[in-house]
Amino acid sequence: DEQKKEYLPKTTSGKSIMGFALTEPTAGSDPASMQTKFEEKGGNFILKGKKHWVGNGTFAKLITTFAKDSEGKISAFLVDTDSKGFKAKEMKNKMGLLTVKNAEITLDDCVVPKKNLLGPRGRGLSVAFSALIDGRLSVAAGAVGVMKDCLAESISYSKSRKQHGTELAKKQLIQEHISKIAVNIESSRWLVYRAAFARQKMYNFVEKFKEKTNQWQSMLDRNNKQYSSLRAEADNFTSIAKFHASNSAFDSANRAVQIFGSEGYKKTTRVAKHFLDSRAIIIYEGANEVLELKIAAHLLGDKYRAY
Ligand SMILES: Cc1cc2nc3c(=O)[nH]c(=O)nc-3n(C[C@H](O)[C@H](O)[C@H](O)COP(=O)(O)OP(=O)(O)OC[C@H]3O[C@@H](n4cnc5c(N)ncnc54)[C@H](O)[C@@H]3O)c2cc1C
Repeated sequence: DEQKKEYLPKTTSGKSIMGFALTEPTAGSDPASMQTKFEEKGGNFILKGKKHWVGNGTFAKLITTFAKDSEGKISAFLVDTDSKGFKAKEMKNKMGLLTVKNAEITLDDCVVPKKNLLGPRGRGLSVAFSALIDGRLSVAAGAVGVMKDCLAESISYSKSRKQHGTELAKKQLIQEHISKIAVNIESSRWLVYRAAFARQKMYNFVEKFKEKTNQWQSMLDRNNKQYSSLRAEADNFTSIAKFHASNSAFDSANRAVQIFGSEGYKKTTRVAKHFLDSRAIIIYEGANEVLELKIAAHLLGDKYRAY
């Protein structure tokens, strides 16, 4: 709660931007294999390692990051980007999402005060995975917005462009693209609602639990059956929503580019931007292959976990 008071007002008012730094050059889909290390020194933790692809990383004031202790246990930290030993460098040559600056971050004996440990020590991956549940939900919801714009652009362009004597909108194969985008939107939208409902149930449970004890953080783990099952449900439905909505957004953008013909091949059109930007959401917040494995493991049981 102290950390919330210190950092959230500045972040929610836009005065200070935050970044999330989990991915490393050799640890992407498998964050448990991260190489970044930390040790204790006096009143501080000293972090050493590299992260990359950190969104907002070039100008963020605060980064949530993760590192392992000498026993291999992962903890989460809030790192002020003015800290000694913190360096950020912009990553170049991205194919899309050009309004987001992604950074490669070097933690060179970066000094982090002990009060900036986020969550219980050794439970860093749980902190990361909680953030990813919300991240997947917001990616899926954002994908619905992308598809709505692809649909609006496709309708407007196909009504204005004439070939073979009539508007493109009168051609049945163009109508097929339009109807498929509409189906993509509706199927994704309802999965977003389903996932949001599961996430809300988990949130309500945690808020009620907090009223009972201020030791709630260390008590909400796998051993609490009700919490564990609500979390697994939220994890599952946000994975399904993100998987379907991201694939649908890329498919919709591809169809919209096709409706625009050569005009859609110009990077300056909205549909071309959606095509390039939506490609990324199939990769981040859990690459879609890994989400498929997660969804299957939820149904088959942990024994069949294939990742
Ligand atoms: C635009 C963009 C923004 C990003 N922003 C952030 C950010 O803000 N913070 C952050 O920490 N990270 C960020 N990332 C990184 C992102 O989370 C990772 O790219 C993602 O987790 C995948 O890791 P990887 O790229 O190392 O791919 P890998 O893990 O190397 O995977 C490569 C391919 O193999 C597949 N694969 C991996 N494991 C398995 C398996 N067991 N079975 C089958 N297939 C498998 C993957 O699905 C993928 O298709 C961003 C990435 C991009 C592209």
